[in-house]
Amino acid sequence: MQLHLSTWPEVEAYLAKSKAILIPIGSTEQHGPNGLLGTDALCPEIIGKRAGDEAGILVGPTFNVGQAQHHMSFPGTITLRPSTMIAAMQDWTQSLARHGFERIYWLNGHGGNIATITAAFSEIYHGVSFDRAGANHPPLRCSLRNWWELPGVMDLCRQLFPVGEGSHATPSEVSVTWFGYPQAVKQVADDYRRRFPDGRIGSDPSQASIEAGEKIVAASVKAVISEFKQFAAS
Ligand SMILES: [Zn+2]
Repeated sequence: MQLHLSTWPEVEAYLAKSKAILIPIGSTEQHGPNGLLGTDALCPEIIGKRAGDEAGILVGPTFNVGQAQHHMSFPGTITLRPSTMIAAMQDWTQSLARHGFERIYWLNGHGGNIATITAAFSEIYHGVSFDRAGANHPPLRCSLRNWWELPGVMDLCRQLFPVGEGSHATPSEVSVTWFGYPQAVKQVADDYRRRFPDGRIGSDPSQASIEAGEKIVAASVKAVISEFKQFAAS
């Protein structure tokens, strides 16, 4: 169930049975010679949407621009100041809390976002504790999960790509986006291994494949559903 493809009565009905929502969060930044600019937003979105379809989880719109200052020398990258991102995350959360959501599960696709997301959570919690309603305020909790750190997922990625996984523009994340958008598969130029710098950080994304993406998504979806249910019930 996706928020932007739902009507308000459908969201109202969902709230009657669950106060938890999943928000994919990522970045729009270069991902090497064959990775899509949207990779870090698309991975949590693809995984979140499938988890939502399989388990009836409400999935919010993707927060698809984040902290990408260090990728700005590559065309297409868009970045937010940390203060802008924190303010926007606060507004998204406060809007959802206003309707009765109490558990916001942020499924993150970009390592560079982690510090700012954590700071945003602190701002959000301070906002709640400074609220005049005090102890009567409904409990609001946020959770941050990096999709590649979901139980079992990193082991699977290492198994699929024992060499060349690297830390940016990894074959694993490129595979996930190709599985989600097979029409966007890019052929890597034959000579790209000789070209540097091209945006990778220690990775060999030429190993990416739709088949690997399918396996990684399946493992991630299973882990997200289990973790989200625990968080929703906490
Ligand atoms: Zn990435």
